[in-house]
Amino acid sequence: MKALKPKKPSLIEFTRKYSNDEEACYDFFWNVRHPDGFVCEQCGCTHYRKITRHRVSECTECGHQEYLFAGTIFQDNKLPLYKLLLGLFLFFTANKGISAAEMRSHLDVNYKTASLLCRKCRILMAEDNASHILDAMFYESDVIYIGAKSKEPGHRGMGTTKQPFLTLLSTGEENKHPLKIRLVPVSVDSGENINRYVSSFARLSEDRLLNTDGKTTYNILKDRITVNNSKIDYNEDDHRLFWLNTIVGNIQNQITGIYHGVSRRDLPLFLAEQEFRFNNRYEGKSLINKIRNCLSESFPCSRRLVISVLNKALPQFTPACV
Ligand SMILES: [Zn+2]
Repeated sequence: MKALKPKKPSLIEFTRKYSNDEEACYDFFWNVRHPDGFVCEQCGCTHYRKITRHRVSECTECGHQEYLFAGTIFQDNKLPLYKLLLGLFLFFTANKGISAAEMRSHLDVNYKTASLLCRKCRILMAEDNASHILDAMFYESDVIYIGAKSKEPGHRGMGTTKQPFLTLLSTGEENKHPLKIRLVPVSVDSGENINRYVSSFARLSEDRLLNTDGKTTYNILKDRITVNNSKIDYNEDDHRLFWLNTIVGNIQNQITGIYHGVSRRDLPLFLAEQEFRFNNRYEGKSLINKIRNCLSESFPCSRRLVISVLNKALPQFTPACV
């Protein structure tokens, strides 16, 4: 029998703990900055008082005030604490994803607010992914093309462009089961890009094996890892890229099924979200701690900065084939 994934945090427990309890919500966010207790930034004193109403902690020694969300992605947050926390909970615990329209209904906020919150959640996930290096004896890799909505010059209305993404999956026991995945947009399917990203995403050595499909662009890695790039027969039941194809297929279905058309600009963040969901599929109850970790490592991000983060992903993201 297939092993069941561990249970995720329960919505009923979450609502019992946090709904109608401003203090409990405040403590959740307060613990992000102070996992080991309060220490004043100015004088080092460990005594403080909370002014929950103004979302600040005040040092009892020197009177220095510290804003609850200072230095995090929610520094300019205007939402009530419970709405924000519930939004994070729903987004991070969703199995496949949650659209801005759904978030809008659940939180009873306007679409713009819901959409910004979803984008910020994706940024948190993308930041968490960035530090992750794959480390296994077996890898599967391919460059795949994902369609995104985009406005083509000279065309009226929306069209679809195909965007290349480098995918790399680590697997256990000779590709018997999938471990973790990385996905990155690339400008072109070139040896240079493959060398750059595979080397920075995974630990390589000559005794490890990288499986791919007849692509000569992977030869560039041959002196650093054993590369099997003989042509694959996809009619075989367990061909060498079986897991990679299955997982990428699911990810594509999730993006089109839940989010319908994703714009070209947003596509990298949607993939980052799917990458995070896949890599954290066995986190279970500790997903709540994961939210805290993501927040503690985040940086302030206004609406304008969110847009520039999206735009920054674009230069390496020019359509290679239309
Ligand atoms: Zn102080």
